[in-house]
Amino acid sequence: MELEPFELHQPAGIAEAVAIAAAHPGDVDFIAGGTDLLPNYKCRLNHKGHVVALRGVREMRALTATRLGALVTIAEIAESDLLLAALPVLPETAMQVSSPLLRNMGTLGGNICLDTRCYYFNQSEFWRDAKGGCLKERAGDLCLVTMKRAGCVATYSGDMAPVLITLGASVRLVGPRGERTVLLADFFRDDGIDRNVRAEDEVLTDVLIPPDAGRRAAAYRKLRVRDSIDFPLMGVAGSLLAAGGVVDDLRVCVNAVGPRPLPMDEVTAPLRGETLTPPLIERVAQEVMARVSPVRNVFLSTTYRRKMTAVFTRRVLTDLAARGRG
Ligand SMILES: Cc1cc2nc3c(=O)[nH]c(=O)nc-3n(C[C@H](O)[C@H](O)[C@H](O)COP(=O)(O)OP(=O)(O)OC[C@H]3O[C@@H](n4cnc5c(N)ncnc54)[C@H](O)[C@@H]3O)c2cc1C
Repeated sequence: MELEPFELHQPAGIAEAVAIAAAHPGDVDFIAGGTDLLPNYKCRLNHKGHVVALRGVREMRALTATRLGALVTIAEIAESDLLLAALPVLPETAMQVSSPLLRNMGTLGGNICLDTRCYYFNQSEFWRDAKGGCLKERAGDLCLVTMKRAGCVATYSGDMAPVLITLGASVRLVGPRGERTVLLADFFRDDGIDRNVRAEDEVLTDVLIPPDAGRRAAAYRKLRVRDSIDFPLMGVAGSLLAAGGVVDDLRVCVNAVGPRPLPMDEVTAPLRGETLTPPLIERVAQEVMARVSPVRNVFLSTTYRRKMTAVFTRRVLTDLAARGRG
């Protein structure tokens, strides 16, 4: 498959990147590693006339325990001794992203801003034409999953964001109107098309991690068929701040069951002061499962993905409880 032509811009700094994006409203994309954007372009999925390459922007490469530049690659996270010591859940999660080749190319910013995925969208143009197109492709006027005329349910499939959400991370966005910091839990929208709060001309420059994140026990479990390459078909991230086995702050975030990662704060916030015993863990697992309703847009059944939400929540919390006692 050949790429359709576009004009490639190669700015050397954030301000220049933002100015270029602002000059081409409605017709511009940023590109970092290109592992998501270029396959989509090759499939003629929402192709733009201007592409702003971020690779030459040096200010976005920080790698510390409290700040990760958007251009840090997934491989750099996976192999970082600093992160392995300070926030081991990040290298462990990075190792679960796709394959070594894609981890070398793919960046943290691209992973967070990943386009949502759907069985009816991530197909060749020929395949999609046979179906008449869908809402997300902006070709049809019907969602082929729900058969409704509004509301795209394409699934968020980045592995890093749910983990970063449970660590309390924020993202820094820089655009022509200035810069702002947004809690990652508030970054995503429940819409497979208009998928996050980043404006088209804003660059995600950094991920900011609170200093107390290193005191948390944290884990991520990912449902997939093959142990390599596969996007998550569901995932559960959890992090626990505990003293002597008693919960100070517990967070759970379910991934890849809808257009955004789903924080489960309404389930976990009331648990402050409790001890994570097996019956309590089971109750939390059931309450988390009750709040998810995957749709039929990946090849595993919705029933299986929903049931596995409880199984993975139980496993993550059992792991965290054991570490929280230590
Ligand atoms: C076969 C295959 C398997 C994969 N498996 C997984 C998997 O298991 N888990 C997983 O999480 N991902 C997976 N991916 C997706 C992808 O490889 C990774 O998520 C990668 O980290 C994306 O980063 P990138 O730099 O290549 O993004 P790009 O393709 O460059 O960009 C992705 C999107 O983010 C936007 N963007 C990129 N950087 C910025 C920025 N700094 N500011 C604003 N917008 C930005 C782009 O405009 C684009 O919309 C897979 C991809 C493929 C092709």
